[in-house]
Amino acid sequence: MTQTINTICVQGGYRPGDGDPRQIPIYQNTTWKYDTSEHMGRLFDLEESGYFYTRLQNPTNDFVAAKIAELEGGTAAMLTSSGQAANFFAIFNLCSAGDHLVSSTSIYGGTFNLISVTMARMGIECTFVDPNCSDEELEAAFRPNTKCVFGETIANPALTVLDIERFAKAAHAHGVPLIVDNTFPTPVLCRPIEWGADIVTHSTTKYMDGHGATVGGAIIDGGKFDWNAYAEKFPGLTTPDESYHGVTYTERFGLEGAFITKATAQLMRDFGAIQSPQHAFIINLGLESLHLRMPRHSENGLALARYLSEHPKVAWVRYPGLEGDSEFERAQKYLPQGCCGVVSFGVAGGREAAETFMANLKLAQIATHVADARTCVLHPANATHRQMSDEELAAAGIGADLIRFSCGIEDAADLIADVEQALAAV
Ligand SMILES: *Cc1c(COP(=O)(O)O)cnc(C)c1O
Repeated sequence: MTQTINTICVQGGYRPGDGDPRQIPIYQNTTWKYDTSEHMGRLFDLEESGYFYTRLQNPTNDFVAAKIAELEGGTAAMLTSSGQAANFFAIFNLCSAGDHLVSSTSIYGGTFNLISVTMARMGIECTFVDPNCSDEELEAAFRPNTKCVFGETIANPALTVLDIERFAKAAHAHGVPLIVDNTFPTPVLCRPIEWGADIVTHSTTKYMDGHGATVGGAIIDGGKFDWNAYAEKFPGLTTPDESYHGVTYTERFGLEGAFITKATAQLMRDFGAIQSPQHAFIINLGLESLHLRMPRHSENGLALARYLSEHPKVAWVRYPGLEGDSEFERAQKYLPQGCCGVVSFGVAGGREAAETFMANLKLAQIATHVADARTCVLHPANATHRQMSDEELAAAGIGADLIRFSCGIEDAADLIADVEQALAAV
């Protein structure tokens, strides 16, 4: 019996047997004991599945990863210590020195830095394309050594909506997978694999946790990309791994398991960016109410965006769910149930007006965080982008007037009343 997203949020991943703990147990141990060295040897050779060391696998993490895989409609998933680690692993599992990827320009600043600076130092080049570029520009971005395409469903903070079908089609025409960071919508609002994406990543730090309690990440494999059909591009998946007892991942684990097993056996083994089982437990508490929180975040986001769009002291509003927004049509297609709680807008009067607005907020909390149960708000020109002049900010596409407002799950009327009185002070 296939279950809906709502039910998977509550019961997915962990299905206790007779007399088992009802809630996911926290396996607070680093290691497992075995009676014979032979048994341990079979586990190390990946000939038998079982646990031996938490850096590689832990049951608590596996239960939570299995729930996230079910939610995204994937075949396998893994947790990582952060969203940054998830995106790094997802790309580095496919790209080595001398390889190339294509990425949307409209992505999280931390991911942009990871790809454009740190991965460049590893010899991996990237061509960035505007998510609204022409088909010719997208086509021209590919090279013979391109290994994947990367984008975000709803980009943080630009709030552009990726045309997943179009990017998947371009990637597949070149024999490479599409990786989509689905942090902002979560699988409750969009499931990129259903639109052709191959790998999905998350910063679980945001809505999945939802309570500002734990930093974490996840990678989900759709299990459909045929690595064997493009074997010469992906030798790491289709030829023996000498660093892991000569295992060939596609042969041993099939298309449904090869990607995540390789990422675990090689990247988690060597980089060690594991999620702690305690934190995985907390992420799961967030997942249990994700299907209830996302609609409320989205309703509040839309209500605030509509209110702001009519306010004389607001210069502009960007929210993909707002009628007339440049992303509205794509949002109707990919996000028919809502566009999450993040709204950005400009206070008429520029930097000074924005500062006055921020100083007068009472309910909305100033924080660098987004996508939390509590409404939080940031004025980038005075926080994350503080070192930049008004001219430099404009060049980076971040006006000095820009406010990033992340609607929580409080009552919309209270949020709007707070914004109303803060605007009145401007
Ligand atoms: C926050 C964020 C990340 C990075 O995640 P961390 O958990 O902070 O490491 C990656 N992608 C997106 C879209 C994000 O919002």
